[in-house]
Amino acid sequence: MKERNKPSKFIGILGGGQLGRFFTIAAQNMGYSVVVFDPDKQSPAGKLADKHICKTYDNLEALDELKEICNEVTIEFENVPAETLRYLEKDIIIRPESKAVSIAQDRIKEKSFLEESGVPLARWALIDSVESIEIFNDEVDIFPAILKTAQFGYDGKGQIHVDNAIELENAFVRFNKVPCVLEAKLDLDLEFSIVMARSIKGDYLEYPLIENQHEAGILDLSIIPARVPSIIKKEATKFTKRIATDLNYIGVMAVEFFISNNHLYVNEIAPRPHNSGHFSIDACVYNQFDQQVLTLSGSKPKDQETKFPVSVMLNILGDLWFRRGDRKSEPNFEMIKSPEISLHLYEKSEPRIGRKMGHITIVGSEKESIEDVIRKAESIRKIIWEN
Ligand code: ADP
Ligand code: MG
Repeated sequence: MKERNKPSKFIGILGGGQLGRFFTIAAQNMGYSVVVFDPDKQSPAGKLADKHICKTYDNLEALDELKEICNEVTIEFENVPAETLRYLEKDIIIRPESKAVSIAQDRIKEKSFLEESGVPLARWALIDSVESIEIFNDEVDIFPAILKTAQFGYDGKGQIHVDNAIELENAFVRFNKVPCVLEAKLDLDLEFSIVMARSIKGDYLEYPLIENQHEAGILDLSIIPARVPSIIKKEATKFTKRIATDLNYIGVMAVEFFISNNHLYVNEIAPRPHNSGHFSIDACVYNQFDQQVLTLSGSKPKDQETKFPVSVMLNILGDLWFRRGDRKSEPNFEMIKSPEISLHLYEKSEPRIGRKMGHITIVGSEKESIEDVIRKAESIRKIIWEN
């Protein structure tokens, strides 16, 4: 709880979206004041923050102001320019460090790093010129594949599926020939993620594995615990620990995995809490944002213990506002009110197709199976879409 009479210490976050908003809530609950740095006046986290610096990430004066206010800063998304982090890092604590973030924000650096760490990846190639495409002919076949821009992709944006060298070249041109990676498209049995936290002293904890279902490249549903064989779970934990250690990582990180034909692959890493970890807000004693605050302030992460053995998280996209066609209509969430259901809306200024507006967590009791809770989630989805 916040202490009333004493001015509380400020901690900071770069980025003011929903992840920044949950961080702000967690930090304020632990007695901190929060400064959010985000150029958007309407940012969901800025609305709750004790202070909002509403400037661009390259504004040195504004960054100096941030340094004046607080000594510890974290990020809510990986696309904060690494330059900004390096500038701040000269004087104050940034967790995760710019080195880890600069790797995670560039798929070329990320894949090279992961390869060096010896974790399994889908076959990939660097595409940075028309010449780099020419090797893909009848002898070197990677198709069907996905061309992904090295930077600034999220929610499936900056990705084009390609079936041959001609489509690849067209896709590369559509991306204005920015550096890309080409990835063999895997036949997915299942996707899952691991959300972990690691302290400056190397204390490590991870949440239960999270099974993820995507729709058009955007996370739709997460199921906890993931229905993954224990041998694969062990492997995934081993790789996650290795990645965190090799990055000398401090903070919360998510690792996304694919299972394809019973083989495990690392997809990508996120140097921050993750959409799939939102279940922890309602299903765990300490959620992923609590761990972000704790590790930022130099403390040990706390117990990842779950209060509910099974839970399902359903993302709410802006599409729901347009369920009746072009005309926008507010969804009605009244009908789904129930103790085991938690609705989180992010207070975004405008709903848009594909924009994450909120999420719903459904927790299951000891008596309920995962399938029971998934069925409940699907019926909730139906109700909100039909109302
Ligand atoms: P983003 O940064 O948008 O999350 P990802 O690389 O994680 O980008 O891709 C988004 C989704 O697209 C993945 O979660 C998965 O469903 C699908 N996808 C991405 N790469 C592959 C691949 N190599 N094979 C099959 N599906 C893929
Ligand atoms: Mg992803």
